[in-house]
Amino acid sequence: MNKTVNKVVILGGGTAGWMTAALLSKALTKVDITLVESDQIGTIGVGEATIPSLHFFNDMLGINSSEFTKTTSGSFKLGIQFENWQKPGSSYFHGFGSTGLGMWAAGFHEYWQRGLELGISKPFSNYNLEGQAAQQGKFAHQKDGPNFAYHLDANLYAKLLREKATNQSVTRIEGLVERVNTDEETGHISSLKLQNGTEVKADFFIDCSGFAGILIDKTLKTPFVDWSHWLPMDRAIAVQTKLTAPPLPYTRSIANHAGWQWRIPLQHRMGNGIVYASEYMSDDEAKDILTSSIEGEMLTEPRVIKFKTGHRKKLWNKNCVAIGLAGGFIEPLESTAIHIIQQGIMQLIKYFPTYGINELEVDEYNYYMDMDYNDIKDFIILHYVQTEREDSPFWKFCKNMEVPTALKQRMDMFKQTGRFVQRKNEIFNDSWLQVMIGQGLIPDQHHPIADEMSEQELKGFLDNIEQDIQKTVSTLPNHGEYLNRFCKSDL
Ligand SMILES: Cc1cc2nc3c(=O)[nH]c(=O)nc-3n(C[C@H](O)[C@H](O)[C@H](O)COP(=O)(O)OP(=O)(O)OC[C@H]3O[C@@H](n4cnc5c(N)ncnc54)[C@H](O)[C@@H]3O)c2cc1C
Repeated sequence: MNKTVNKVVILGGGTAGWMTAALLSKALTKVDITLVESDQIGTIGVGEATIPSLHFFNDMLGINSSEFTKTTSGSFKLGIQFENWQKPGSSYFHGFGSTGLGMWAAGFHEYWQRGLELGISKPFSNYNLEGQAAQQGKFAHQKDGPNFAYHLDANLYAKLLREKATNQSVTRIEGLVERVNTDEETGHISSLKLQNGTEVKADFFIDCSGFAGILIDKTLKTPFVDWSHWLPMDRAIAVQTKLTAPPLPYTRSIANHAGWQWRIPLQHRMGNGIVYASEYMSDDEAKDILTSSIEGEMLTEPRVIKFKTGHRKKLWNKNCVAIGLAGGFIEPLESTAIHIIQQGIMQLIKYFPTYGINELEVDEYNYYMDMDYNDIKDFIILHYVQTEREDSPFWKFCKNMEVPTALKQRMDMFKQTGRFVQRKNEIFNDSWLQVMIGQGLIPDQHHPIADEMSEQELKGFLDNIEQDIQKTVSTLPNHGEYLNRFCKSDL
């Protein structure tokens, strides 16, 4: 359809809607943008951990790190501690920086693996600054690291973005969409009819209506790519509690017999939740596991959230792009949903159809987003399939499931040769190594370059890295004290 796009309507005012409104209105100042949201429906109210890519998004909006942490009552996140994943009682750390020092031909893990054979290597995370700082509860903004992301109150982030967007001329309409009108000939969306009778017209629509998928699903009936045969987790229960200790600079992910629990510390409260597969755990059992393991007084009632893992086959369909939960969802194990929202917005700006929708650009958008979802999906499956656990029907299923071909190739190549190759535009890199090794996937061999060092040289090399990291960590202040001093929230 070769119709110019001057007016855009965003349906939904959750994290996805307001992130989209804020960046689109900043980048494309001539486009007339309206956001429709319903107070009656509200937002999902979860989504409190991020990965470092959010810095790029906030930078574009002129939101600096201290302001962000203060305004969202957030804390700094250096990575995730995975407990009970490889086997009950086990623990490893996925930190946000690179581990050790590699060179162009061979990664650090190949030297580490040789050291392991010689009995001189320490745990892989001993060579990761972020992992070490996190486990000692330290943090500061520093030029050479540590790399970090955030824990945040998503409602406060949406409020901050709403202020930015409305100041940048986005119009906000409060109202419930009751009907969506489409063009008989093209099937394109033409307007939204609100409960109060108002009709909101636009040339282009962005579906940020959450799991309801009012436009992409209910109206355009876009097929869904269902991944629940690989990721059977389909429920979560969230509950907020009072803090019992100063916030730690990392997320905890604690596996149980049919899922896992999260602990996300903010400045004014702890976010807790359990993610589980309803085929293997009932809602009542999940609620019991969650409420019996939380620390601190409950501030909210436990709430069951249902979901399905996968994404819309075409995230851009006709004159509609779906961003956020309307487009798809992969469980929050690596806190990737806000990152995918950001990718969706940036790709939309890149291919924005000012002079009319071009199907070649639509295909490019869908291809890119498909890749992004797929890479993250494989990374999440890795956590489940690479395990020694077979102590419950759920873990038996995970350990023995048929793995997606691309993931299987990656795991096999790593095991057999020690090689790991990051794909183009893939968000995770060193993270793959940390999780593969943390979950017990140790390569059978290393690159011959690692044999160029004598055993003594290798020991010196490994020890130096470890000592440098400990030296840096010893200069960092305590995370809780740092927050109080530089980023204290008003809550
Ligand atoms: C259990 C769980 C844990 C998560 N944890 C993380 C995490 O740690 N990190 C992370 O990055 N992400 C996480 N996510 C994902 C994250 O919550 C979402 O990606 C994010 O909140 C964006 O949601 P949204 O804006 O798409 O939808 P929502 O927040 O649901 O917003 C939907 C909007 O659409 C509006 N709306 C819906 N229907 C209508 C209608 N008919 N008329 C008018 N308005 C309507 C609603 O009012 C609302 O404003 C998690 C998700 C779940 C389920």
